[in-house]
Amino acid sequence: MTDPDNSREEIHLRLDTPPPCTRCEGPALLLARFPHAWTNCNGRRVAGLRESTLCPICDRGKSDAEALLQLLMACGELDATSFESLGGLAAAWVESLRQEYVDIELLNSEHEQWQRGDL
Ligand SMILES: [Zn+2]
Repeated sequence: MTDPDNSREEIHLRLDTPPPCTRCEGPALLLARFPHAWTNCNGRRVAGLRESTLCPICDRGKSDAEALLQLLMACGELDATSFESLGGLAAAWVESLRQEYVDIELLNSEHEQWQRGDL
């Protein structure tokens, strides 16, 4: 189902000195800031902004990230054609990030183990 609000959303990309990767703290190639929403434990929809870094190490092999990584690592400066490609590839990558969900059952199980001192 298509959310009509998503069709007008803006994705901000930062290519110039993005912050380090949030997972490995190595140099990232870009930062994306985009609208993101989820349903909280009370069933309410919570809307906000999310930031993600594209990392040549952590994101290697992930299909939507890989095409974007190859584009950014192949060219020193983006020409008009690669800049056009960047928009589409970044949108696909952001959409793949939105599809990542937390496994609530696993999280609850690990939380209970942690509370018991098993972790
Ligand atoms: Zn990384």
